[in-house]
Amino acid sequence: MVDFVGAGPGAPDLITVRGRELIEAADCIIYAGSLVNPALLDHAGEGCLIYDSAKMHLEEVIGVMERMEAQGRNTVRLHTGDPSLYGAVREQMDALRERGIAFRICPGVSSFCGAAAALEAEYTLPEVSQSVIITRMEGRTAVPDREKLHLLAEHGATMILFLSCGMAEQVQQELLRGAYKPETPCAIVYKATWEDEKVIRGTVGELCKLAADNGIAGTALIVVGDVLGDDYGLSKLYDRHFTTAYRKGEPSDDDKKIS
Ligand code: SAH
Repeated sequence: MVDFVGAGPGAPDLITVRGRELIEAADCIIYAGSLVNPALLDHAGEGCLIYDSAKMHLEEVIGVMERMEAQGRNTVRLHTGDPSLYGAVREQMDALRERGIAFRICPGVSSFCGAAAALEAEYTLPEVSQSVIITRMEGRTAVPDREKLHLLAEHGATMILFLSCGMAEQVQQELLRGAYKPETPCAIVYKATWEDEKVIRGTVGELCKLAADNGIAGTALIVVGDVLGDDYGLSKLYDRHFTTAYRKGEPSDDDKKIS
């Protein structure tokens, strides 16, 4: 059995209970050493084999899983954040399927959620944005034409850019080709939830300068949108006059005048 486990964004106590129990029970752990907090490996049992996948290619990773499986031992594949985002897990799952090796997935707290906590932000604010676009600047991995950054930027929705801080200049240009303005708020969150977390706030017009001045190139997210600003509408859900399936709204002053 192979368990793909989301390690969370960095702080070692932000892994799920299930994820920690899987680590404790693992015969072998293959972790993404470039981003996963090594403190999580302290939960591993004695004799657990540990591999850093940053130094391995796909066939080597699958090879370890195959050897463990042949010995009747289980492997935890520890990925940063949640495995479903930029985790390169699909190719591993398909390789395991081809070999008849069973696997499961344990979700994790993605770094974009860690960044929201660091920013004390709500990504979906009434009357501001009700959508979150998770994307990246094109790098060595191509982005499909229809998802080019300036096209996604046309929505002006809340946007989270992974893997893009090293290309802040292009990011800034592409965002400004869309609906964002130079004064639209943005933030760079470096190592969200780690002890050396850094939050840098500014505007889209100064994004590139913010990254350069603070020497940020990796392990950071760019968050863009008016949800980082001051204006928004109040929710209907907690409006005292609004009736939901769980709560009857109070009559408004207008209703009282009529009755
Ligand atoms: N699966 C991961 C993302 C892996 S891609 C997740 O759900 O978070 C790696 C990229 O994620 C990094 O280049 C960076 O953009 C972002 N990232 C990962 N951990 C981060 C953290 N703690 N703070 C800020 N960005 C982070």
